[in-house]
Amino acid sequence: MQYPEWIWHNGAIKRWEEATTHVMAHALHYGSSVFEGIRSYDTPSGPAIFRLIDHNTRMYASARIYDMQMPYGLDVINAACREVIRRNGLTQAYLRPFAFRGLGGFGLSADTPVEMSVASWFMGPYLGPGVLETGIDACVSSWQRCAPNTIPSGAKAGGNYLSGQLIAREARRLGFGEGIALASTGLLSEGAGENLFLVFDGALHTTPVSAALLNGITRHTIITLAREAGIDVVERDLPREYLYLCDELFMCGTAAEITPIRSVDGRQVGAGKPGPVTRRMQELFFGLFDGSTPDRHGWLEYV
Ligand code: PMP
Repeated sequence: MQYPEWIWHNGAIKRWEEATTHVMAHALHYGSSVFEGIRSYDTPSGPAIFRLIDHNTRMYASARIYDMQMPYGLDVINAACREVIRRNGLTQAYLRPFAFRGLGGFGLSADTPVEMSVASWFMGPYLGPGVLETGIDACVSSWQRCAPNTIPSGAKAGGNYLSGQLIAREARRLGFGEGIALASTGLLSEGAGENLFLVFDGALHTTPVSAALLNGITRHTIITLAREAGIDVVERDLPREYLYLCDELFMCGTAAEITPIRSVDGRQVGAGKPGPVTRRMQELFFGLFDGSTPDRHGWLEYV
């Protein structure tokens, strides 16, 4: 892999290879980190970071859940995000702000110093070339999401992604593009790293945050854009079989953007290709970056 030249680490811009930590850092052993995934896009007015402040605010909320004392404020991290995009000369990129318990204690409850970093690199479609147009084949995972009173899904914490890895790796091993997990209730939750939308009779149906999922910023963007376009959105509990009955189905997330799903567990969804509501949502979403959808909410942060 080709790495970019610059990264922000503990208050300074460094060369990529200099941003290192100790093997005994707490987070490496216990998953004690929080992070964000943010995209920047090449817009007619220059590179813009999508919902930068909302993402970083969520990272501080994740830290609060785990009682992690952040050594830098939100404004510093927002500025670091802009700076790594500029320094690396990136336009269409992925940003990874990150905070983790570092070296300074081996006990589970140790209050070690917290280190912070912000990386950025070029990123195309997350689930593979062409998937935004063709859609992916998904499967329901044999792994379910953590129950709400075990590991909180509302925190975007490193340890949560052990669940995501099991789901994603099982799906890839079986030849699927992505895995979908059920919650401990048996109802639909979300993808390994994406929220879910089902379409019935022209309306969008999405699983509620009570279904042990991350309250996605792309999910919120889609709900907002759909309602503004007069498309009904329903947040509701959904049983697994609705995946087989819906007219259209897609996943969404910062990395996955809006990825249509053309089959689940080998059963074709709708016409087996992205349907009209999915395509309309893609148009509205990607329109934010070419100017065809007005940025009514100040979501674009120009670098
Ligand atoms: N669920 C999980 C588990 C995720 O990792 C992500 C990606 N951050 C999402 C949903 C989508 O969230 P967002 O739209 O904020 O990227």
